[in-house]
Amino acid sequence: MSIVRVRSFFFVLKAAVFLASLVLPAGASAQGFSQPSFIRDAEIENYLFDLAAPIYRAARIDPRSISISIVQSSVANAFVAEGMNEFFYTGLLQLTDTPEQLAGVIAHETGHISGGHLIRGKEEMRNASAEALLGTLLAVAAGVASGSSDVAAASAAGGMQIAERGFLRFSRAQEASADVAAGRFLDEAGISSRGMVEFFRKLEGQEMLPEDRQEEYVRTHPLTQDRVDALKRHLETSRAKDAKLPEKFYVMHERMKAKLMGFLQPETALLRYTDNDKRLSARYARAIALYRTGKVDRALALTDALIAQEPSNPFFYELKAQVQFENGRIEEAIANYRKAVELLPDSALLHQAYGHALLEGANGSKNSVRIDLAIQNLIEANRLEPRVPMTWRFLASAWGRKAELSKDGRYAAMATYALAEEAVSSGNDKAAGQLADRAMKGLPKGSTYWLRAQDIKLSTVPEGEGRDSKK
Ligand SMILES: [Zn+2]
Repeated sequence: MSIVRVRSFFFVLKAAVFLASLVLPAGASAQGFSQPSFIRDAEIENYLFDLAAPIYRAARIDPRSISISIVQSSVANAFVAEGMNEFFYTGLLQLTDTPEQLAGVIAHETGHISGGHLIRGKEEMRNASAEALLGTLLAVAAGVASGSSDVAAASAAGGMQIAERGFLRFSRAQEASADVAAGRFLDEAGISSRGMVEFFRKLEGQEMLPEDRQEEYVRTHPLTQDRVDALKRHLETSRAKDAKLPEKFYVMHERMKAKLMGFLQPETALLRYTDNDKRLSARYARAIALYRTGKVDRALALTDALIAQEPSNPFFYELKAQVQFENGRIEEAIANYRKAVELLPDSALLHQAYGHALLEGANGSKNSVRIDLAIQNLIEANRLEPRVPMTWRFLASAWGRKAELSKDGRYAAMATYALAEEAVSSGNDKAAGQLADRAMKGLPKGSTYWLRAQDIKLSTVPEGEGRDSKK
């Protein structure tokens, strides 16, 4: 698991002007707004995808066209934005007790997508990662909500709450229509909407609380007694009323919650999941919490026991590799990342982590072989998931080292091209265009990377400088 902070501020100001035709006080966002952090984790993302896929299909949406992102925040919230992006806050994931409850939230958010209740970004962000998109939206929202740098700063300190209240809030009519759609999707997917009713009942009564004590989800998705009553009526007549999800979803849900707490609230996790708790999820949470609090040897011992119990679970090898990598034990980390990649070859994140470890471990006699293997894995990571700025950064570094070793100038140009891709993925079009232009000069004309660099250059031309003629 890793925490990714979205960088780059300059496009935030540009986006603000585009989105709301507002005059943002100069520097307000840039100085006062703290960019959100995202959780990237192959295991949790796989679980969310497996749970959500039948719901998307019921909504006649190709599951591969939706991007699910996890925002690190103690508040409970979820919402959708333009470009088929669904965002789930860790606070919300931790608030759900069962996969059915989480499926209810996913179905409701998908109802907003199919109803077209999307938060609009700007055209220039279409190539950016979902994380960069949300970073921009929230920064803009901070400016929208406040109009003053003081309030923007307060909103950053308050966990983005002010930002979302006005900007991300849906109307009651939209809520009702998303609920109706959600019930239909769950029925068709064969998932009981009991979880959706349970989750909304959990939040029921919050409407009576002062705003600052409500869960954020209640503020962005106004909850009324009418809504809860309608959901209950739907459940009573639903053909999937008593359907039960396969056991593996309960296992995955429990592990997700254990992992999030171990990683994000390690001190609490060590109290919650005691030594006497022999459940696998409890030992998993402890292993992660021990590593997060610097007790490396105990963390590794617990992880080894987990591996012994489930020797073909890629995520246990990944955890072991991460602990070793972060503690300078690169050779062991490489071996365990290799094992994780072998067990789960279609994970972009595992290929990225393995490639990064190989790069760190490339020295002496292993230099050349390791760099080539790193490049191979990073290219595979990009094929599986094309818009991850960090993967492009590692690849730029790998190609840069290849250039040093081989004295072949094409690799230096490829490194520049990779930096252009990193800039595009971060929503930094201006830098991307300049880097792509520079890369093209060193690449053989008409070659694959030359063509891709040309695509970037053409697609990042500022408005009024010929973009329309290139469409
Ligand atoms: Zn809603």
